Amino acid sequence: MDVQEMGEKIHWLGHDTFRIDGSKVIYFDPYEIEDGPKADLVLITHDHFDHCVPPDVKKVQKADTVIVTESNSARKLEGDIRQIKPGDSLTIDGITIEAVPAYNTDKEFHPKANGWLGFIVTVDGVRIYHAGDTDFIPEMEEMDVDIALLPVSGTYVMNAEEAAEAARAINPELAVPMHYGAIVGDDSDARKFKQILADSVAVTILPKE
Ligand code: ZN
Ligand code: ZN
Repeated sequence: MDVQEMGEKIHWLGHDTFRIDGSKVIYFDPYEIEDGPKADLVLITHDHFDHCVPPDVKKVQKADTVIVTESNSARKLEGDIRQIKPGDSLTIDGITIEAVPAYNTDKEFHPKANGWLGFIVTVDGVRIYHAGDTDFIPEMEEMDVDIALLPVSGTYVMNAEEAAEAARAINPELAVPMHYGAIVGDDSDARKFKQILADSVAVTILPKE
């Protein structure tokens, strides 16, 4: 599958929540969602209340849904949970999941020592990076990904300018802004992100579904 085709299978459900309808159904950080297609895989970046939400996970969970997350979130959830830390990777049903670090560099909401996560998933041959709650971190320079889902709201994570800097360093074929429109940040942050990158990285602002 090419990046364009995969881009059309990525649904933004608000804030940091995405559903990918590839050969498997994958959710990232389900938060304030309606019932939807059931998940084969749920990936949770960290246990803040707007990222790890047990009732929202239950809405899309079926008997054989696999949840991949870090230790704090694992304690709050039920089901088939695979606990991982940055640097780990595993393959479930043909989907390779690499856990990468996500942390703040100039604020204290997401300490590196917590071992909270971003994910690089390889779905149908396309590498998709969900950054989690993070600033622009040096590990991004080394990443080889096709699609990057990046926070842009500022306050707890990168702001639009910093996220644009991160996008240039990562240099994906497609970048998608997230982490706005719910707790903090609004559409103007997403537009600013796209505008700064106009000459360098393709950006799609997804409609909220
Ligand atoms: Zn957080
Ligand atoms: Zn957050």
